[in-house]
Amino acid sequence: MADVEKIKNFVKAIPDFPKEGIIFRDIFPIFRDPSAVEALLTHIAHHVQSTTNEKIDVVLGLDARGFLFGPLLALRLHASFAPIRKKGKLPGSIISAAYTKEYGVDEFEIQADAIQGGQNVIIIDDLIATGGSAYAAKELVEKAGGRVVEFVFVIELVDLKGRDKLGGNVYSVIQY
Ligand code: IMP
Repeated sequence: MADVEKIKNFVKAIPDFPKEGIIFRDIFPIFRDPSAVEALLTHIAHHVQSTTNEKIDVVLGLDARGFLFGPLLALRLHASFAPIRKKGKLPGSIISAAYTKEYGVDEFEIQADAIQGGQNVIIIDDLIATGGSAYAAKELVEKAGGRVVEFVFVIELVDLKGRDKLGGNVYSVIQY
């Protein structure tokens, strides 16, 4: 699809970042061209609207690059937005879930009043690798009584099979 090709052209591969042997997929160049942002958000919103009949109540963005896309998608879907943050950053009453990183364990948190029981949720992030962080986000949503309708990623690293861990609807715009 022409829009996906256009967006893909803006994603930069940075070799050996953050350490040797890793190819980092950088989405920031997309934001240097408003027409690329427009194409991306239109693509994602069209996907969501054409594949679900359900009203999306809440879009949750994952710390930190999910915050770039989450509010834009929420606006398009007439949904609310809330952040899922790494431990210790959110004020007030929070719900937390642990997740495994390459080295050790970390925790994700959400404000307890960000989701009401029974609400339909989309979780969005820039990239899915192993799926560990998105899985923890799903746990948070379920603890809060919400339901994850779909996971949306701009980029999917297919070989890492992260989508298998999530056991639900997973959509990615670009695959490597
Ligand atoms: P996962 O939990 O293993 O799926 O890793 C996904 C998380 O790591 C996301 O929050 C991404 O932002 C981040 N991440 C891992 N690799 C990359 C990359 O190449 N580019 C941008 N973000 C990455």
